[in-house]
Amino acid sequence: MGSGQVTDWQGKNVTVAGLGVSGIPAARVLHGLGAKVTVVNDGDDERARTQAAELESLGVTVRLGDARGEAAMGRSTLPEGTELIVTAPGWRPDNPLFRAAEKAGVPVWGDVELAWRLRGHDSRKAAPWLAVTGTNGKTTTVQMLASILKAAGLRTAAVGNIGVSLLDAVLGEEEYDVLAVELSSYQLHWAPSLRAHSAVVLNLAPDHLDWHGSMEAYAADKGRVYEGNRVACVYNTADKATEDLVREADVEEGCRAIGFTLGAPGPSQLGVVDGILVDRAFVEDRYRNAQELAEVSDVRPPAPHNIANALAAAALARAYGVPAKAVRDGLRSFTPDAHRIAHVADVDGVAYVDDSKATNTHAAQASLAAYESIVWIAGGLAKGATFGELVAESAKRLRGVVLIGADRALIREALARHAPEVPVVDLDRTDTGAMLQAVQEARRLARPGDTVLLAPACASMDMFANYNKRGDAFARAVRELGA
Ligand code: ADP
Repeated sequence: MGSGQVTDWQGKNVTVAGLGVSGIPAARVLHGLGAKVTVVNDGDDERARTQAAELESLGVTVRLGDARGEAAMGRSTLPEGTELIVTAPGWRPDNPLFRAAEKAGVPVWGDVELAWRLRGHDSRKAAPWLAVTGTNGKTTTVQMLASILKAAGLRTAAVGNIGVSLLDAVLGEEEYDVLAVELSSYQLHWAPSLRAHSAVVLNLAPDHLDWHGSMEAYAADKGRVYEGNRVACVYNTADKATEDLVREADVEEGCRAIGFTLGAPGPSQLGVVDGILVDRAFVEDRYRNAQELAEVSDVRPPAPHNIANALAAAALARAYGVPAKAVRDGLRSFTPDAHRIAHVADVDGVAYVDDSKATNTHAAQASLAAYESIVWIAGGLAKGATFGELVAESAKRLRGVVLIGADRALIREALARHAPEVPVVDLDRTDTGAMLQAVQEARRLARPGDTVLLAPACASMDMFANYNKRGDAFARAVRELGA
């Protein structure tokens, strides 16, 4: 199992780690190619048992139960004869299974690595990948990119960490010219031989550090997206860490470093001049020329961080050779996913905006920077985050704050320290009516021209099934106000 394409899977012993959205399709595909597949899965609940039964009926072996527990008892969890492990991206690198694999010299691939290795048997004909990673903005950027590529008449799809599985994209009937691929840091960790046509790291802020072990390890995994790029490594000029990763990457000869900036672009950059997105990278004579791509108002919503996303998407599309007009058309026809700075309604001259997807402080900071005067609804599960910097940065924009959720005391303390003059309503309830009360309190604090912004900076699972449900509850509450 070197670094190339594996063409003969007949009889190969492959262990798939984890049932679930990536494990089940991986097991099926590998089994279909003739491999001898064993699936190991930590849990053995009702759902796992049903899934296991389905796979077993095909001839796949499934071992349910707590793999970690077995290792603690001193037994190796590596099934006998394993030649390759294909893991679900979420499995932590310190899992005993991987230690056993390392000792035995068995390679570990993630779902992305598997898709990369299986893409078209003639890799020269396989669709190249334009890859997007970063702490925040991945989904939005990948969707903008796909929209631009489509506007250029290319056969493409937004795939990866966003619903459409990469395995389906590379093995399905549909033929693609190029793929817009969203990659998480976990997926990159397990994708050692991936080589994108071009890639971007949008930004880097502490996230998922418990999984990666340290900020350095997290950054290094994100940086893998640049390894072996052929045409462009796109970085954020406002986030030096992304530029450092480009410098450290080993790329193909002739591959260029391309920056994006919300200011006027220098040579080899894309940026903004007088409300126009301009390209000074993919033009003839970049020292003298610039190409107009689109207007800031073509980007929806035209919040600063989202303009950055549009510039990053444009840079990847231009690296692929897309004409300027397609960038504009693609951005115009793009509609953002729900709960990402979605304008819900105006009530009494106050705008209500749902950015429930702002589940960490970096995202919430971008969202708060997009409005002048805000009543901020925040709180939930902090996942180990601290809020001092976020509150200090945003204090001058805050008309008031309504706090909800389990870890709201952490935000309250940050507010007391960095914004003591801002009125705070602390809601000590987590029942289904809590969001309605939060919105009513926010309305009381808001004045005409303000924005009531749900950008919780926290995960939602203390009160809601997920961030979608949290955003829906907000939108329902706003509609009740208007009724
Ligand atoms: P991801 O796929 O990386 O989670 P999304 O595109 O779904 O990113 O956006 C998630 C949230 O992150 C948005 O709701 C917004 O609050 C914030 N966000 C989006 N783009 C950026 C950016 N470029 N910088 C900082 N925050 C951003």
